[in-house]
Amino acid sequence: MAVSKDLITKAVVEGIKVASIYLPPDVKEALRKAYEEETNSAAKAQLEAILKNIELAEKLKAPICQDTGLITYYVRIGAKFPALDVIEEALIEAARIATKEIPLRPNTVDPVTGRNPGDNTGRYAPVIIWDGIDPKGDYLEVTVVPKGGGSEYVTVYAMVPPGKGLEGVKEVVLDAVVKAGAMPCPPTIIGVGIAGLSDVAMHLAKKCATTRKIGSRHPDPVIADLEKKLLDMVNELGIGTMGMGGKTTALAVHIDYAYRHPATYAVAVAFFCWAARRATVTIKSTGEYTVTQ
Ligand code: SF4
Repeated sequence: MAVSKDLITKAVVEGIKVASIYLPPDVKEALRKAYEEETNSAAKAQLEAILKNIELAEKLKAPICQDTGLITYYVRIGAKFPALDVIEEALIEAARIATKEIPLRPNTVDPVTGRNPGDNTGRYAPVIIWDGIDPKGDYLEVTVVPKGGGSEYVTVYAMVPPGKGLEGVKEVVLDAVVKAGAMPCPPTIIGVGIAGLSDVAMHLAKKCATTRKIGSRHPDPVIADLEKKLLDMVNELGIGTMGMGGKTTALAVHIDYAYRHPATYAVAVAFFCWAARRATVTIKSTGEYTVTQ
C-alpha cells in the first residue's frame, strides 16, 4: 500500500487510541510494584483504585482518565520517507477523528476568546514537535503523548547559578516536587532538562518525562547516578500516591542535558502523571505500520 495522507491519518488515529486507552507495560509494571511495596493504607487504597481503573479502561476500551490531555506528537522523519508534504495535515486530521471516535474530551481552548473548537485542534494544536531527521531512514515515527493538565500545571523553570552545578539541579527538583504536592496526580515520572537556553531545558525535561521508558538510564554514568539518587530523595519526601503519603511519590526521574553557555545553567522540571500515556506509530515507506508502547 502506498503511503498517503489517509494512511498516515489512519495509523496515527490508531496510535492515539492505544495511547489513550492502554498504559505502556513499563508504567503498569511500576505501578503494580508500587502497590505491592506500599505499607501506608491510604496510599495503597489509591494505588489499588488506579490499577482497577487501568483494567477497566482496557476492558471497556475507554480513556484511562477523563482528562484526555493535549495531544502532543514527537515526530522523527526518515529522509527517504515519501509524502513529507502531507504529514502535518494528516496529524491534525488524526486528532479530529480520534476526538470523535474514541471519544476524547475536547481540550483545546483559544486563550484570547475562550472558544473551544470541540475537536482538539486550533492554533499550534495538536502540538507537533519535529524531533529530527534520520538521513538514511525510510520511515515516519510519531510518538503520541496525550499530556494531562494537572501534571502540566506544576512545570517549573529556573536559572541556577552556574557555580552550583548539579547541586543546584537537585535543589530545583526537590523544591518543584514539594510545591507540586498532589497536583500532578502522583506517582509521577519526573523529567529534568539542563541546558544553556530555557526552551532547550524545557524541551529536554518534557521529552524525557513523557517518552523514555521506566527502567532506562541515561548513557552518561554521572547523570544515570543522579537519576537514581534524585528518585530516592523524591520518594523520601513522603508525598505519596495522590498526596496520601507512603513510599512512592515518583516512579522514575529521567534527566537529559545539552551543552550550556558559560553564564547560564537553565533547569526545567516536567511531570508526567500516573496516567503516563504514550504510543509510537512507525510507518514504513511501503505503507506497513506498527503501533508500539
Ligand atoms: S494529571 Fe493525569 S491522572 Fe491527573 S487528571 Fe490529569 S490526566 Fe488524569
